[in-house]
Amino acid sequence: MADNYDVIVVGGGPAGFGAAVAAGRQGRDVLLVEATEQLGGAGTTALVNNFCNAYWDGERFIIDGIFGELRHRLIGRKAIWTTRGPNTADKVGQEVYDPDVYADEMERMCRQAGVDVRYGARCTDGTFEDERAALVVDGESVAGRTVVDATGDAVLAHHAGVPTEIGRGRGEIQPLTYCYMFGPVDLASLGATYPTAIQYDENVDVEYGVPSYVEEICELVREDVAAGALDLSVPTLYATVSVPGREAYMTTNFGHVQIDDPTDPEQLEWATAEGKRQMHEGIRWFRERLPGFEEVEVVCEPDGIGVRESRQIEGLYTLEAADVAGRRQFDDVIAQCCFNIDVHQADVDVDHSYGVDGLGEHDHYDIPWRALVPASGPPNLIVAGRSISATSVAMSSFRVSPSVMAIGEAAGVTAAIACECDQPIPEVDVASVQDRLRQAGAVLS
Ligand SMILES: Cc1cc2nc3c(=O)[nH]c(=O)nc-3n(C[C@H](O)[C@H](O)[C@H](O)COP(=O)(O)OP(=O)(O)OC[C@H]3O[C@@H](n4cnc5c(N)ncnc54)[C@H](O)[C@@H]3O)c2cc1C
Repeated sequence: MADNYDVIVVGGGPAGFGAAVAAGRQGRDVLLVEATEQLGGAGTTALVNNFCNAYWDGERFIIDGIFGELRHRLIGRKAIWTTRGPNTADKVGQEVYDPDVYADEMERMCRQAGVDVRYGARCTDGTFEDERAALVVDGESVAGRTVVDATGDAVLAHHAGVPTEIGRGRGEIQPLTYCYMFGPVDLASLGATYPTAIQYDENVDVEYGVPSYVEEICELVREDVAAGALDLSVPTLYATVSVPGREAYMTTNFGHVQIDDPTDPEQLEWATAEGKRQMHEGIRWFRERLPGFEEVEVVCEPDGIGVRESRQIEGLYTLEAADVAGRRQFDDVIAQCCFNIDVHQADVDVDHSYGVDGLGEHDHYDIPWRALVPASGPPNLIVAGRSISATSVAMSSFRVSPSVMAIGEAAGVTAAIACECDQPIPEVDVASVQDRLRQAGAVLS
């Protein structure tokens, strides 16, 4: 391992992974620091093992590049399947992947790009001087020229004095969810009562279960929550789908935990305990209410409760709900997104508009480069992922893993150019970033 890197990426979620691979492929010495023992961020450690459809606008892929390559690697390993959304027979709903294969392919792509990965390493602080950075990683100092903050919580930006806000513009964040994997489910028994709970995917040539796509099952959840027979606040069953390669086992996104600030350890600890309670309640309900689920048990718990939202930085541009709803295009586009506004709230079903128009078929909007660049603070720091400069409602759309990976890719290319040209990040030529992204297969228009 080098002791003086061109680019240090902190956080190995989809954004940090995209940034590290992109910077490595630009020929820079890159270190990726990840606090847990796996890459993938919420997709692995919070067991949110699917790609929401931010990338296929009904006609063409509007996100490709590193995300497209990872997706094809998963297809090649038969570790992903495509679910069909309810009432949209021929439209991609979500793509569900095996979280272990996902992390493994991320690791391989990092290694192939020459990235040094440090697992189980938490970055707690950093000093930024004369366009150099010294980060504190597990008590040791690590030096670098540029830094990508892909922590999801804008940890480094916050430490470095970049203004941040929790629940920006809305005054509250989306609730957290404790996802888990459970089974075995008798799919034949489930399908005998609910035929539409079983789908087929040609790639893996196998039938799998999608109970959360069945309206009658969601109605059961609503009735039981209303009657007090299911002690959860939110009356909805979100993504509950078989895991590729282990069809009798499912991951589920069932329950909401509302707190004010997930960066406060005490609040997070309380949320985790409440999430676990909701997991036990969910398992009881599955066993009692769904055919084929009588014997299910939890087989895998997340490393921590899934946090949808925390800090947003103040950047050179702040993406707003009107930009999403207005399908806005920007000259400094570095990624596109077609996932709708998706504001989860404590005790009602998800809101796909939140007061503005939703996106229709073939609609998408641009993410501008300026939203990744802090408006003030160290000139060699760029932010990637869900914590870029945006209002709470706008981030509810692009926060999903395909788009944050594309944002990360752009942050990595920017950090690499800043090193190559010895420039502060805000002075990097955006047209060069765009050219290199296009050369690497990104779709920007
Ligand atoms: C409950 C839930 C359901 C979701 N459902 C979906 C879905 O169905 N489909 C979809 O596409 N998206 C979904 N999402 C959204 C998506 O998973 C996240 O928004 C996305 O993972 C954010 O990526 P990120 O890289 O910005 O941050 P994260 O995924 O949060 O990754 C940040 C990484 O940084 C690491 N880290 C943090 N601080 C430090 C530090 N100080 N030092 C070192 N490492 C650090 C963390 O360990 C983590 O690995 C869901 C999210 C949640 C929480």
